[in-house]
Amino acid sequence: MSVQMTILYRYGGSLYINMTNRCPNQCTFCVRTLTDGLGTAGSLWLDKEPTVDEMYREFHSWNMNDFDEVVFCGYGEPTERLDELKKIEDHIHWKYHKNVRLNTNGLGSLINGRDIVPELAECLDSISISLNAPNAARYQEVCRSRFGEDAYPAIIEFIKACKETIPDVTVSVVSGSITQAEEDECGRIAESLGVRYRVR
Ligand code: SF4
Repeated sequence: MSVQMTILYRYGGSLYINMTNRCPNQCTFCVRTLTDGLGTAGSLWLDKEPTVDEMYREFHSWNMNDFDEVVFCGYGEPTERLDELKKIEDHIHWKYHKNVRLNTNGLGSLINGRDIVPELAECLDSISISLNAPNAARYQEVCRSRFGEDAYPAIIEFIKACKETIPDVTVSVVSGSITQAEEDECGRIAESLGVRYRVR
């Protein structure tokens, strides 16, 4: 039996948007290697990336009063589709009056070839950025980014810029993917950057 691809899905009390499977990393812990779906989703593998109009139509099938927040997440990195993200965010804020969060690997500026934080600051109520490691070499071991060791310093700069412009910033690591000492070090990095820290 084929499983229908999922663009929107409920996870906890939030509505999640899955609009791309593209990502510059191949993290050792990526949930994509463990399961095809999360929450109410069928398969989060997309046969093709949905257009903006297709995503607008998807919202009509949900009672938006059930959610306080809409989250760009997916089985991929949402900033791979920054223009579409901005259009959908506008729709969510002005039609549904919901808070918007982005879950990101923090590599959006490298992906888009420019500093995208000012554009995100106009869109987002909160952002959760995957830190994943305490230094560049370890990040590359764990996340296997196509940006190599340029990835980690770019993420740190991205976090600093978000902290200045986006109301709610959290950085996270995945439990068990690094050692306890490395987790603790990531917590200290988050504290030094003045952002919240979450082990997920
Ligand atoms: S950044 Fe996220 S989507 Fe990309 S490989 Fe890592 S865990 Fe998976």
